[in-house]
Amino acid sequence: MSLTRRGFASAIGALGLACGRASPPAPPASHPFAGYDVVDLTHPLGPSSPYIHVRGATFPFRRAPIATIPERGVYANRWELTEHIGTHVDAPCHFDEKAPCLEKIPLAELFAEVVVIELAARARANPDAEVSAADLSAWRLAHGPFPARSVVLLSSGWGARWPSQSRFANADEAGIMRFPGFSRAAVEELAAAPGVLGIGTDTFSIDPGNDAHFEGHRVLARAGKWALECLANLDRLPAQGCHLFVGAPKVELASGAPARVVAWVPRSHRK
Ligand SMILES: [Zn+2]
Repeated sequence: MSLTRRGFASAIGALGLACGRASPPAPPASHPFAGYDVVDLTHPLGPSSPYIHVRGATFPFRRAPIATIPERGVYANRWELTEHIGTHVDAPCHFDEKAPCLEKIPLAELFAEVVVIELAARARANPDAEVSAADLSAWRLAHGPFPARSVVLLSSGWGARWPSQSRFANADEAGIMRFPGFSRAAVEELAAAPGVLGIGTDTFSIDPGNDAHFEGHRVLARAGKWALECLANLDRLPAQGCHLFVGAPKVELASGAPARVVAWVPRSHRK
C-alpha cells in the first residue's frame, strides 16, 4: 500500500502531536479510529520501571540479549519478569483458585465502556484517598446507571509519578505504601454490579497502598472479574462515553500479565 503525500503529511503531523503532552495524536482520515482520540493507557516497561517490592518474590523487569545483529545477524532478548509488573491485568485466578486465569477470559470481555471516577484533587491532599460508595453514587447521579459491559477506573493523578519508584510507591517512614485505591464498600458494590466487567487504577493496586490484605482483590476475584493496575494517561479520559481494550497476552494459567491497554475517545467526548 502506498502512502499518499497528504497521508504522509498527516502522519507526520500526528507524530509531531504525539510528542506534546496536551494533544493526543489524531489518527489519519483513513484510519479505522478517525473521529476518535486513541489514548494509550500503558506505561513503557523496562528494567527501571516501578514494581511492588516483596522480599524473596518480586524483582525488577530483566532483559538480556540472546542474539545480536553484529554477532548473529538477528536481535532478540530473553525477559525475566513477574506477572504483575508495569501496566498489567489481574486475572480472577490471582486470588481465587476456582476462577479463570488470563487465557480463559473471553475476548468480548476485554472490551469495555469506561467509567472514570475522578479522585486527583483529593489524592493531592491525601494519598490515602479512597473511592467510596458515595463516589459511585455521585457518578451515577451525574451520568446515569453504569453502562452494560463497563470498566470502572480510578483516576488519581498517580500516572504522572511513573517511572519514579519512590514517588509511585510513596512509602512512609514505616515503609508502608501510601497511594489511593478503592474502598472495600466500593469494590463490593462493583463486584456485585452485573454490568461491570472489571475495575482499574493508575496506582500499583486497586486496594489502597496502606492495605496489606488485598481484600478488594479477593472480593473482585470471587466475582470472576479482572482488574487493571498501573494505568497511564487516565487524566485524558472523559468521565463517560469512551471505550477501552485490554490487550492481555493469552498465556496459559497466567494470574495476570503486562498488557497494552488502549482507549478510544469520540471527539464529541474529548476532555
Ligand atoms: Zn496485579
